[in-house]
Amino acid sequence: MKLNFWNVINVTVSRHPTKYLGEEYQRLVRENLNWEIKVLESASEPICIVNGKEVLMLCANNYLNLATHPKVVEATIEATRKYGAGAGSDRSISGNMIFHEELDRRLAKFKNAPASLTFQTGFMANEGLIPQLAGRGDLFVSDELNHGSIIDGVRLSRTDRAIFKHKDVEDLARVMEEAEKHDPPYNHIWILTDGVFSMDGDLAPLPEIARIGKEHGAGVYVDDAHGEGVLGEGGRGIVSHFHLRRDEVHVEMGTFSKAFGVIGGHITGGEDLRNFAYNKARTWLLSGAVPPGVAAACIAAIDVLEKEPQHVRRVWENRNYLLEALKDAGFDTGNTETPIIPVMCGKSKTARDLADFLWTKGIFVLPIFYPMVARDKARIRVQLCTKHTTEQLDRAIDAFEEGGRKLGII
Ligand SMILES: *Cc1c(COP(=O)(O)O)cnc(C)c1O
Repeated sequence: MKLNFWNVINVTVSRHPTKYLGEEYQRLVRENLNWEIKVLESASEPICIVNGKEVLMLCANNYLNLATHPKVVEATIEATRKYGAGAGSDRSISGNMIFHEELDRRLAKFKNAPASLTFQTGFMANEGLIPQLAGRGDLFVSDELNHGSIIDGVRLSRTDRAIFKHKDVEDLARVMEEAEKHDPPYNHIWILTDGVFSMDGDLAPLPEIARIGKEHGAGVYVDDAHGEGVLGEGGRGIVSHFHLRRDEVHVEMGTFSKAFGVIGGHITGGEDLRNFAYNKARTWLLSGAVPPGVAAACIAAIDVLEKEPQHVRRVWENRNYLLEALKDAGFDTGNTETPIIPVMCGKSKTARDLADFLWTKGIFVLPIFYPMVARDKARIRVQLCTKHTTEQLDRAIDAFEEGGRKLGII
């Protein structure tokens, strides 16, 4: 049919291109599920300015305060002065600067591994590498609480998927037995797990996962974003924490955006993994390299971790102090094993009300709710850092107690 003026304006369609965007947002607001993002107006330090107000920061990933460490800051300034604000290209084309290569090498050395490869972010490492590891005729086996970047990586592939119950080794063994019955047999199987689960602060049972993986000839892939800088010898991460070998855990993935205090993702394993990843991962091949100043800052952060192990000790002392006090006050803090402390609240509204109350007391915490956690498992996620003082933590404990009583949580 030839379109003319009349049959265009006579058509009545109920479809609207964008109206649903506003409707969906309004639904999130009604159900208390929308993000209310605040603005940080100072450096990410224990005491900072947020939305014009001086507050105690208890929700940063900057566990070791390396974001403001003088050596890290100097490194980024110096590299930027000499090499510019940007790398000029993707690493795969002409943006692979000496800093990127040195960072890959330094990270592998820090991890006592044959090879590492750094990405622009941790999300991009998972999203780029995972869909290349397996395809038709293969299987991904995932912990049910894995990070969204693992889930998206799996979704981008044509690989079969199976889920095991959170940290449940018996359920994993059952899933693997089932998988062995698949006809035709799977070519490759990968077990994917977070090392530290970011909403609960608990650890994957990595030695058992590695043992089951070995029994089935499966690859083991651990995302240690929240474990690095915190777990293991001098903050070397979960593989070091459990004294596992590189032939037991095949991909150790992580990020420079948390304890390292900068930004960037990475994977560590054998030479084969590195060579495979940079030839196959589309997020690495088809997206710009991090600026030289960023890579230089990451190198400096590794340097600090190697030379100043006291930062790791301090964050644990702070974590133990706050955790004990919150438990003594009667809060349910879940099963945390790290400097991430969930304070369970139940409904999303309760978590928000507690966060709002704490805000009036000058304390900045993050309420976490559906879809990041189950609907009835809303919580406040507290994260400690090296530079928190005992006085600051005491202030937080008092405010938590007052708010918890007010809202009937304790
Ligand atoms: C934060 C996080 C990521 C993403 O890392 P970025 O470098 O910030 O993109 C991936 N996995 C887990 C488990 C995380 O906590």
